[in-house]
Amino acid sequence: MPLLRPTLYFHSVCEITPQLLRERRIAALVLDVDNTLATHGHPAPFQGVIEWLDRMRLAGIKLLILSNNSRRRVAPFANRLGLAFTSRAFKPLSFGLRRACRQMGTAMSQTAIVGDQLFTDVLCGNLAGAKTILLDPIAPEDGPLFRFKRVLERPFRKRYPREGI
Ligand SMILES: [Mg+2]
Repeated sequence: MPLLRPTLYFHSVCEITPQLLRERRIAALVLDVDNTLATHGHPAPFQGVIEWLDRMRLAGIKLLILSNNSRRRVAPFANRLGLAFTSRAFKPLSFGLRRACRQMGTAMSQTAIVGDQLFTDVLCGNLAGAKTILLDPIAPEDGPLFRFKRVLERPFRKRYPREGI
């Protein structure tokens, strides 16, 4: 199903390089939080994320956080990283992504949504006409709903192999 096909698929956000983004004409990244930049609900980012953000900024890539999680979760995390954010974004609905593009001044086609979930992050980007970057969930979540979603994602992840493999 093309709506679930990511433009790029990496293991970790830190594998995204300015060169890869230039090749794909991506000027801005709209970043998920949980299982993309940090473990679900964890206040500190994954190891290497701060340095990766610096590399992106240095390369002139625009950055913004777009999360379905609560303001209480997202605001302190985004402030810590120095990023603008939208919480309770209701991905895969695309109004948050559209607003992010307006805020950053980038066209949808030059913008990539980055996240670990096919049915929220990738679907949101594809529905809106953005580029999409799928990541592996680094620390799988607990709970039956998340487990169910991961089972549904499995055949699609197998179909779309990761970069560099
Ligand atoms: Mg996530």
